This record gives sequence, C-alpha cells and structure tokens, in this order.
Amino acid sequence: MGLIDAIPRREDAIGAPFRGLPGVPPMLAAPIVGCAFEPRCVHSVQSCKSHRPKLVETLDPSVFAACPVINDHLLERVS
Ligand code: SF4
Repeated sequence: MGLIDAIPRREDAIGAPFRGLPGVPPMLAAPIVGCAFEPRCVHSVQSCKSHRPKLVETLDPSVFAACPVINDHLLERVS
C-alpha cells in the first residue's frame, strides 16, 4: 500500500516532492514475519504484523497484490 502511495499521480504538480516510505527498510539478517512494509505502512492491519499477506486479485483481474487492503485503498483513489 505504501508503494502504491509512492506512485506519482496525474494531479501532482511538476517538481512535487517525492512521496517515499518514511522510516528505514527492515534488517534482512533477521527473519521477516508478516509484511516487510508493516512497520512503515500507514494502512497496515493487525494481520500484516503476524502473517505474510497472500496474493489477492485486485480490481484489475490481471493484477495480483500481496496486501489484504489493496482493493479498499484502490477504491478510495478512484472515487
Ligand atoms: S500487507 Fe499490510 S503492511 Fe503490507 S502493504 Fe498491505 S496494508 Fe501495508
């Protein structure tokens, strides 16, 4: 989800600051439980912390994403 938010939007002004993910990437030496983006994701839900997200079909049937809330967020962006 945070990665989706980082995609430039058509309505962004030219030269608008890059919207990256705040924080730092996870330490790869330690096993990652749940979603690797969970500590930095503003859309995370309880299961993101404890379970690796399963691939789900998005609103575009040709696109899958490993995120339980992807479709809710995409619907917000198009409405
Ligand atoms: S699975 Fe959870 S933590 Fe990972 S990007 Fe989606 S909402 Fe954020």
